[in-house]
Amino acid sequence: MFATLNDKLNGVFKRLKKQVRLDESNITEALKMVRMALLEADVNYKVVKNFIGSVQAKAMGEEVLKSLTPDQVFIKIVHDELVEILGGKDYDEGKIRLNSQPPTVIMMAGLQGSGKTTSSGKLAGLLMKQKRNVLLVAGDIYRPAAIDQLETLGKQLGCDVYSDRDSRDAVKIAKDALEYAKKTAKDVVIIDTAGRLHIDEELMAEIVRTKEAVNPDEILFVADAMTGQDAVNVAKAFNESLEATGIILTKMDGDARGGAALSIKEVTGKPLKFIGTGEKMGEFEAFYPDRMASRILG
Ligand code: GDP
Repeated sequence: MFATLNDKLNGVFKRLKKQVRLDESNITEALKMVRMALLEADVNYKVVKNFIGSVQAKAMGEEVLKSLTPDQVFIKIVHDELVEILGGKDYDEGKIRLNSQPPTVIMMAGLQGSGKTTSSGKLAGLLMKQKRNVLLVAGDIYRPAAIDQLETLGKQLGCDVYSDRDSRDAVKIAKDALEYAKKTAKDVVIIDTAGRLHIDEELMAEIVRTKEAVNPDEILFVADAMTGQDAVNVAKAFNESLEATGIILTKMDGDARGGAALSIKEVTGKPLKFIGTGEKMGEFEAFYPDRMASRILG
């Protein structure tokens, strides 16, 4: 994950280690290199600017210049600031907000190909491991293969799937599914909504109507980490019409440079809750900012 960024940052730290002592000039030099590494990893420029500003303010302070192990202190400052942009320390550990009156309703949204249907299955699997009785809802009615895909995933997971192949009304399907979930005493309902190639008005209107009809506890926006800043921009646009409660970043196992992961929280203001790390159902993790920061620097 983020191999190039990892190499570059470690290169900066190695150079610092060689210095007899740190002063303003070699810290400035190191920060310049960190800045380049982040920009090359496709991190949003405003995020980079704030990040460098914060690291600089701390690094130029007495703490580093007077420290006996200045390089270690510098690395710790970078680590802490990475944790900050990834979501901060007081993080809700990627937990789903479960409604005290079941079923908890989770709506999944995202562009076609982002990994929405796969992530719906993965999330169902994760919740089933926590002994939750889950219903998957095939709301992506414009892509018939999505219904088949969700039903296959349901069989694989042993999870009930609600679908209505004859219906062209995604909002009604969501409502009917919720009724079915209540009758069958489900704890959690995960609705896979339709995705398009681009965010368009029609898509947003349908998702907003579905939201109003089922009043979800969580709206999770699924974004493909491989698409870098595009993923961030789409998440931002999506949020302007519909407040997501969290983000799932998929395809983190690919050669994504890190830009999406490092920018999406700061740009959208929404927490990154889960990451997808492969095509298989188990390849899915709750997101922890400090673990991710350690992976980036590790
Ligand atoms: P949707 O159109 O948003 O529902 O996207 P799909 O769930 O059908 O996923 C699109 C493609 O991405 C499929 O081939 C998935 O197997 C793949 N995919 C989804 N999540 C991941 C992931 O975390 N890692 C990898 N490598 N592939 C993924």
